[in-house]
Amino acid sequence: MKLEETELLIVGCGPSGATAAREAARAGIATVVLDKDAVVGQKRVCAAGLRPGFCEEFDLPRAVVHCDTPRLALFDPAGHEYEVMFGPGHTSTREEFDGTMARLAVEAGAELRTQALMREVRRDGDATLVEYADLRSGERRSIRARSVFLAQGATAKLERGGFADARWNDGLMTTLQYRVYLDRPAAAVAYRTLELHYYPAADGRTIVAWMFPKRDHLAIGLGLTGKLDGRALRAELDRFTERVRGRLYPDAAVVRVKEEGHLLYGGWPRARFADEAVMLGGTAAGLVDATNGEGIYEAAMSGRFAAEALIGHRENPRAAAVRYAERLAARFKRRLEHRVRLMRYLEAKPARYALLFDQLSRSRAFSDALQREDHERTLRDRLVLYANAARFGMRASFA
Ligand SMILES: Cc1cc2nc3c(=O)[nH]c(=O)nc-3n(C[C@H](O)[C@H](O)[C@H](O)COP(=O)(O)OP(=O)(O)OC[C@H]3O[C@@H](n4cnc5c(N)ncnc54)[C@H](O)[C@@H]3O)c2cc1C
Repeated sequence: MKLEETELLIVGCGPSGATAAREAARAGIATVVLDKDAVVGQKRVCAAGLRPGFCEEFDLPRAVVHCDTPRLALFDPAGHEYEVMFGPGHTSTREEFDGTMARLAVEAGAELRTQALMREVRRDGDATLVEYADLRSGERRSIRARSVFLAQGATAKLERGGFADARWNDGLMTTLQYRVYLDRPAAAVAYRTLELHYYPAADGRTIVAWMFPKRDHLAIGLGLTGKLDGRALRAELDRFTERVRGRLYPDAAVVRVKEEGHLLYGGWPRARFADEAVMLGGTAAGLVDATNGEGIYEAAMSGRFAAEALIGHRENPRAAAVRYAERLAARFKRRLEHRVRLMRYLEAKPARYALLFDQLSRSRAFSDALQREDHERTLRDRLVLYANAARFGMRASFA
């Protein structure tokens, strides 16, 4: 039987894979996407906060937005709240968001195969062979591709071969989230706010917890580095949810709670983003901001870079992969590595959170500059950042 072939094979139809698929297919590149789930996005566990301008940047319908959130509320370990205005940011749910992105990729001409679990990727002459299990029929299938984009998220098992990275496992976080459905709306401020809380768990590890509002529920969750057994994790989340309830919905009755958990990556970006004609995107490449867990933007942007690299070097997939890795590193590596260092610095002395949040809440110029990508920063942004970093460094060293 003749082996099936395609120009681009994508593993994973999250924001990274779906963006790559949509933009490559739109340019006429024959694209096949494999996703292990039956319905894309339905099992994704995420707070689904989106940075300002996301829909415009990636040409998505505004209908995926649940709430506009111009307010970021940062809570230090003592529970003090610091208000930072931005954006506005947005919230969505991953079933709607990923489902829409997948639909747009298919409309652009990509072929999406669901219930297709990638098993193995290996070199095959001048191409790459991808083996996957068709979960409907139980059969094992293979596709030969000129280029491969691996975007399977935090569960990407890449311990062997060119992408192996000894630091990967240290960056994995355990998370648990409740979708809390109420019999009446919570306090109005809840629907304009993204809340992020930083405090020590019973065993001293740092918990990052959140409350992100949705049209019909509040997403309340937390994560911490490493593993924690299910009961202890639920106890931590129950304590946190109780604190949120007291502030945001003291009089509402809880109609339903949906519990969901997943791995979150919050460590160093991978050392390599490409190997021969195989590119690594999104969270599989370690592109998550360690301070707040944001990775959707980075994932979508990596998908765009992969498509653009292929469009620019269509005759030479290896050159495309090299170009892709260079662009991705130039755009994200420095900031994301800095965020890992910042997070570790804050964790070392929890009093430092309050000092940083205080500065952020007092200076819009500082918080705006911090949220911009490196290439977007003006000279003024850089001066604001240096001045604030110096001030923070001084105050933090006495904390
Ligand atoms: C609890 C939690 C909260 C978060 N909150 C936010 C937030 O508010 N804002 C934000 O920006 N980011 C957030 N993130 C991070 C965000 O979810 C990720 O950064 C983002 O989803 C990465 O996109 P991706 O396309 O790289 O991977 P994913 O979205 O993880 O998609 C990977 C896809 O690959 C598929 N797949 C995996 N393995 C295989 C395989 N072997 N074969 C075939 N298919 C496979 C999966 O089914 C999935 O569809 C959060 C993460 C967690 C866990």
